[in-house]
Amino acid sequence: MERDAPLIDPFARAITYLRVSVTDRCDFRCVYCMSENMTFLPKKELLTLEELDRMCSTFVRLGVEKLRITGGEPLVRRGIMTFFRAMTRHLDSGALKELTLTTNGSQLARFAGELFDAGVRRVNVSLDTLDEKKFADITRWGRLPQVLKGIDAAQAAGLRVKINAVALKDFNEDELFTLQEWCRTRDMDLTFIEVMPMGDLGNEDRLDQYWSLKDLRARLAERFTLIDLAERTGGPARYVQLQETGQKIGFITPLTHNFCESCNRVRLTCTGELYMCLGQEDMADLRAPLRASRDDAPLEDAIRAAIERKPKGHDFDYSRQKVGGQVSRHMSHTGG
Ligand code: SAM
Ligand code: SF4
Repeated sequence: MERDAPLIDPFARAITYLRVSVTDRCDFRCVYCMSENMTFLPKKELLTLEELDRMCSTFVRLGVEKLRITGGEPLVRRGIMTFFRAMTRHLDSGALKELTLTTNGSQLARFAGELFDAGVRRVNVSLDTLDEKKFADITRWGRLPQVLKGIDAAQAAGLRVKINAVALKDFNEDELFTLQEWCRTRDMDLTFIEVMPMGDLGNEDRLDQYWSLKDLRARLAERFTLIDLAERTGGPARYVQLQETGQKIGFITPLTHNFCESCNRVRLTCTGELYMCLGQEDMADLRAPLRASRDDAPLEDAIRAAIERKPKGHDFDYSRQKVGGQVSRHMSHTGG
């Protein structure tokens, strides 16, 4: 009985949200996320679909109510629909309140219907620009029409789509209102993400691309009346409503500390490493206890021990005009 007590960390935060990266691979090479020539993990390092099921089911038993599947690109993992369908049983039992994913949208045209059938109701689609040429530049391998078709298919299947756009200086600054208006006409929420100092990509200097959401927000306020929404997700997102259109716009500022106190989430990589905080290096290997026994007890113990080490907050800092608190792993590793 005691085993099924919920996961509470040392700062009295209940851990109810698990983000799971199911692959480190991707069919895009976004410049802020990956280098052009990536070396991916050998297959045997990855959790199998069955292991992912066991891992997630254990977390659900320990009180996780929301699962977000990410990557890499989750929809390029072979057989991933088997995993989604397996999670449906936790939705059916009521233990899991939400099953969702973050995707680049490239495979949505193919999978939207199946995702809906598995119980997914909302998807986050990452899209930074509506300009075909700029889209190809920023994603290197991505093609905008394919993603737009994916979004059409998702909406047609009944999925609620939220657009996530990374705010990039001198890149999509001029598309702020284009993106906002496009989302309004399609009835999609829109969230902007501040670019994070992740990994050493040998690409553009991260600081050069940094467009502060404070500035972005100020520009929105020149045209619209912004109403702050009280809505809190336990994550780094804050929301406003545009009074004139009724639209919801989110801001994800992972570089500020103002959300750590309500942090309810942990992240599992595709190799079974559990990161207790996006901005810290500390992690727990859950694959070893998972593979060591068919019994879930050692895994549960490892999860509880890891949650005991969840830090109070992270350590990103741009303020000294250098990238402080930089962590060396890529977003595609921890899954954003
Ligand atoms: N491939 C999927 C996608 O692009 O949505 C899921 C994984 S991706 C790593 C998750 C999110 O992280 C995307 O919205 C992406 O834009 C964002 N991201 C990647 N690198 C980032 C960075 N350096 N700073 C901020 N956001 C980043
Ligand atoms: Fe792939 Fe998503 Fe990273 Fe872009 S942001 S390279 S789509 S994992």
